[in-house]
Amino acid sequence: MIDETHDPARASWVVSANGHEAFPIQNLPLGVFSPDGGTARGGIAIGEKIFDISAALEIGLFSGAALDAAQAASGRTLNPLLEAGPAARQALRRRIGELLDAKGADAAKLQAIANRLLHDTVRCAMHLPARVGDFTDFFAGIHHAYTAGTISRPENPLMPNYKYVPVAYHSRASSVGVSGGTVRRPNGQRKPPGQADPDFGPCRNLDYELELGVWIGPGNALGSPIPIAEASDHVAGLCLLNDWSARDIQSWESQPLGPFLAKSLSTFVSPWIVTTEALAPFRIAQPPRPAGDPAPLPHLNNPADQAHGCFNIDFEVLLLTPRLRAAGAAPHVLSRANASMLYWTVAQMVAHHTSNGCNLQPGDLFGSGTVSGLGQGTAGCLLEMTRGGQNPTTLTNGETRAYLHDGDEVIFRGRGHRAGYASIGFGECRGTVTEALPLA
Ligand code: MN
Repeated sequence: MIDETHDPARASWVVSANGHEAFPIQNLPLGVFSPDGGTARGGIAIGEKIFDISAALEIGLFSGAALDAAQAASGRTLNPLLEAGPAARQALRRRIGELLDAKGADAAKLQAIANRLLHDTVRCAMHLPARVGDFTDFFAGIHHAYTAGTISRPENPLMPNYKYVPVAYHSRASSVGVSGGTVRRPNGQRKPPGQADPDFGPCRNLDYELELGVWIGPGNALGSPIPIAEASDHVAGLCLLNDWSARDIQSWESQPLGPFLAKSLSTFVSPWIVTTEALAPFRIAQPPRPAGDPAPLPHLNNPADQAHGCFNIDFEVLLLTPRLRAAGAAPHVLSRANASMLYWTVAQMVAHHTSNGCNLQPGDLFGSGTVSGLGQGTAGCLLEMTRGGQNPTTLTNGETRAYLHDGDEVIFRGRGHRAGYASIGFGECRGTVTEALPLA
């Protein structure tokens, strides 16, 4: 639903928000932050500032439904707000949009107390926006599934279930972390081709996976599937997600039950939940399935979802190596992709996940699966880009990478755009590889 919060002419008295590439007043994403030495609390990104929801509550800037929503969004996690559902998020969005509007009734009064309401983002620490109860990683990037499949099963790259089932595995919630941290190269069992027996040591093929992250809202009771027509009501918002992957450990451990330690080592998300409401202008039709593909089964097939269930979000993957960093050079752009390259919509993932009665809970997290295209420069991970490490990629400064080296920083960016609307961004999902722990 498009309303006054999406008006591209709306400007903010927070000057850095106007024309901001990620956080103009039309975005208003939710996160949890600590101001310089302060306790963790809910906030909203606006330009280069964070709007402090608990400070605004103390000043008495909310009433009615927006007051309940602001209270639910003011604590150390946003789970209470996620649980409250779309109406609460809309009430909060409308009120905060009004408060930050340059032409708002109280703009002058609020500007006078801006030092109480706003914090400089660069002086704040960001936290996971919600306590993650469960983390499910899908495999909806069909070009990734196909290309990765050609490396391990050239004769049969896509499994026969792929176009019927939004394939997923249950990954690890405890190791989900927020952008900006380090990921330690894991030790694990490796068995390279041609080696008779496995050994234990540092992963040699550490990779990233560019994914769309999905934050679940109210969820469902055990035994009560969410019909696809209602699935969007359970999606609070989206983020960027890096599913760090240890390819050598993965290829040895994954038969027959799928990935385990190769994935549970760590997963990073961007700190801001870009809400379903903020993303309304960037909804597009799910691209038609290629001729000959089966239609989704009825419980995954909904006309409104097919018409509006896809998001036009551009992604960019960048790499900053220690040498690039030392030279003060810009990160190297590894690839670009778009969320419309996913074969399944987010609503189809929700409907499928609950179709057996399994319950989703507020703060559950989904990864979409690696988002990749088919052409040059569109691979969402190094496994695809380098054909399993066979064809290392050359960076702007002449360095090459088959897989990640210690000290490499991987940076994801995402952006929604549509003619006639203000573009919004996700902020960044960044993570730096550190050396493996010494073996005992
Ligand atoms: Mn993944």
